[in-house]
Amino acid sequence: MSLQQILYIVATPIGNLGDFSARAIEALRTVDRIYAEDTRHSLPLLRHHGIETRVSALHEHNEQAQIDVVIAHLLAGNSAALISDAGTPLISDPGFRLVRACRQSGIKVSPIPGACAFVAALSVSGLPTDRFQFVGFAPQKRSARKAFLKSLLQLDHTVAMYESPHRIVECLADINEVFGDKHEICIARELTKKFETVISGTVASVVAQVASDANQQRGEFVVIIAGSGKAHQGDEAASMVSLDRTLGVLLEHLPIKVAAKAAADLFSINKRDAYERALALQGKS
Ligand code: SAM
Repeated sequence: MSLQQILYIVATPIGNLGDFSARAIEALRTVDRIYAEDTRHSLPLLRHHGIETRVSALHEHNEQAQIDVVIAHLLAGNSAALISDAGTPLISDPGFRLVRACRQSGIKVSPIPGACAFVAALSVSGLPTDRFQFVGFAPQKRSARKAFLKSLLQLDHTVAMYESPHRIVECLADINEVFGDKHEICIARELTKKFETVISGTVASVVAQVASDANQQRGEFVVIIAGSGKAHQGDEAASMVSLDRTLGVLLEHLPIKVAAKAAADLFSINKRDAYERALALQGKS
């Protein structure tokens, strides 16, 4: 297989070295150049697996400047691979600008998938995964983080985010304030590593467990928040208001039973529910 003119986006482990796939190792051995977020961090991992390929740095501060260099290297008929410090490149990691520029230059970009912390966390959280949103890192400043969390209240689906050990306690306190202590969350810590812990339950119970054990405040975290359903509740509240308005008008002109039936048809609701609402509006329930 010719590797020429291909940029491989290669996932590396998020902790457990056994999660480095055979295909990833083979590709990294075979390409002409590896671009790594932090060469000092990645070299021991690469050399440990007998990967002797030349490694250059590509991180958020030099990505723009490196784009032309990487593209020239690939257009000259070489192949390359991009890796980040851990997990899947581009997921809260550099590489988006490079991938975009390569694709715009007609260079093939091919994934060698593997570990990704938020996907691993979702898979064990016990929260719905049919729909979810990954929101990257929460803002560092408290006021911005609270505003950010408030914006998530509108979502009906599960939310996954990354958080640093320096802010995990503050972040949980903010989630408590914004979502309430009965809301369901999960924190996945040190996944695939020796001290892997997945704690789920109400915000109150998770906060209590983290507060009572300093070890639970160390390491790398993914925070998963159950969909709040507040958007849905908002819809329900809005449709209740318009049901009341419609019933109010109908009741001015029609007997209660006829008004309730008309409202039930208009709002596709049960006749008995519409009748009870009509009685409530007339102050008779
Ligand atoms: N590209 C990576 C991926 O695919 O998940 C994420 C890189 S981002 C800079 C690093 C963040 O991912 C950490 O701060 C932490 O929130 C999360 N993370 C990485 N490894 C983890 C692990 N083993 N357990 C839990 N969270 C992890």
